Amino acid sequence: MMRLFDTHCHLDFDAFDKDREAVLERANEAGVEGFMVPGVTRNQWEKLTSLASKNTSWSYALGLHPWFIEEHDISDIEALEQTLEQQKGQVKAVGEIGLDKTFQHYDKQHTLFIRQLELAKQLKLPVIIHHRKTLDRTHADIKKYGPERGVIHAFSGSHQQAMKFVEQGYKLGVGGVITYDRAQKTRQAIQEVPIESLVLETDSPDMPLSGYQGQRNEPYRVALVLDALAELKSTDKEALASQLWKNSVELFS
Ligand SMILES: [Zn+2]
Repeated sequence: MMRLFDTHCHLDFDAFDKDREAVLERANEAGVEGFMVPGVTRNQWEKLTSLASKNTSWSYALGLHPWFIEEHDISDIEALEQTLEQQKGQVKAVGEIGLDKTFQHYDKQHTLFIRQLELAKQLKLPVIIHHRKTLDRTHADIKKYGPERGVIHAFSGSHQQAMKFVEQGYKLGVGGVITYDRAQKTRQAIQEVPIESLVLETDSPDMPLSGYQGQRNEPYRVALVLDALAELKSTDKEALASQLWKNSVELFS
């Protein structure tokens, strides 16, 4: 039986409040046994940690997402450090953090991103990185301030950009993007990246797969991402799944 790890799903979001159990059951039936649930705002950390404590298959991360940077400042970084220290051993990463050029307050995003990279390095935790139109900047920041391990969530970029992160020891998150024919550049980049540097993800409830546009995304569909990846890499699905499981466990251990 194949074991799958959805390394990026926001199962703590309100979108799952009504049927979280059913969502997890559908995922388990599809072989999804591991879930990484990243934090996005300070207000959400408590709900997230409480849910994670009740679900043994969940791993969780805490961080301040660039989309919500307006409601945060440096004092929240101190709170993050305290919470990470308190939950040492339970919390598996710092995330979701990053830089998004399509969002406002870019300078503030950058300041808080660097502080969170430094914090992760100091606490020897991996990072979960959000990016949009900021891959090269992100790479430079990780190299300068970041920890040794991490994942580039929803990687989309060229093969050359992909390999810069791989050489840095980072994994690339592969999600619904590769199910779209129009995503040729990303599909090709992923095709050429060594399997040892990839992990699967859905970004549920967001980033629907091709054929599911307009619907809430769910972790069980990570099995469909696996199908697309096996096809893209012309490789055996079971061997691929087992390597990807290993990568995910290694990333968040
Ligand atoms: Zn996310």
